Amino acid sequence: MTEVTTKSAQQGKEPIRASEFDPKFKYELQKIHGAENILRCFQCGTCTSDCPIARFSDTYRPRTLIHMAQLGLKDRVLNSDTLWLCAACFTCTDRCPQDVEVAAVIRVFRNLAAEKGCIPQVFKDQAQSLIETGYAYMIPELRIKKRVSQGLPPLPKGNPETIRKVLRGVKFFDRIQQWGDQK
Ligand code: SF4
Ligand code: SF4
Repeated sequence: MTEVTTKSAQQGKEPIRASEFDPKFKYELQKIHGAENILRCFQCGTCTSDCPIARFSDTYRPRTLIHMAQLGLKDRVLNSDTLWLCAACFTCTDRCPQDVEVAAVIRVFRNLAAEKGCIPQVFKDQAQSLIETGYAYMIPELRIKKRVSQGLPPLPKGNPETIRKVLRGVKFFDRIQQWGDQK
């Protein structure tokens, strides 16, 4: 958490260059399901003031991400580590007076970031684990042995085949390949 906060804080302090603005970005977003109402945001701050993550983070501000997107700061939005702090609780969506569907907008940002390979390593590892075991986290062999020694029943088997089938349908493996290429 400290690393995320520090890096993002540094990103936020960097001066903005004119070449960073992409005036088409907001119009591209409007065409994506979930982000259609992004231009309705008038920066009232309700989403941020009610966000449980913003309460505990110095840098995570959904309102600011939306403002940056409206301005066309595409790379800054998609490269932002704080994007991945959203807990998808939908409080912001419920409270926004402009029906911006903030949680969906954050999801759209994440999807676009993932397409570029801008995704924290921890989520790449989780994805890999899901594919291999059906679990989001690899369960250490030591823990499995400990369960046995304590007479606990074996854990239910994951179902990676079904997960792979779904992921193939959304071309997820192409993304994984791209992430690997970018390592
Ligand atoms: S609550 Fe809605 S209108 Fe207000 S800042 Fe957030 S997204 Fe914008
Ligand atoms: S969905 Fe994300 S941005 Fe919205 S209130 Fe919850 S944690 Fe905050």
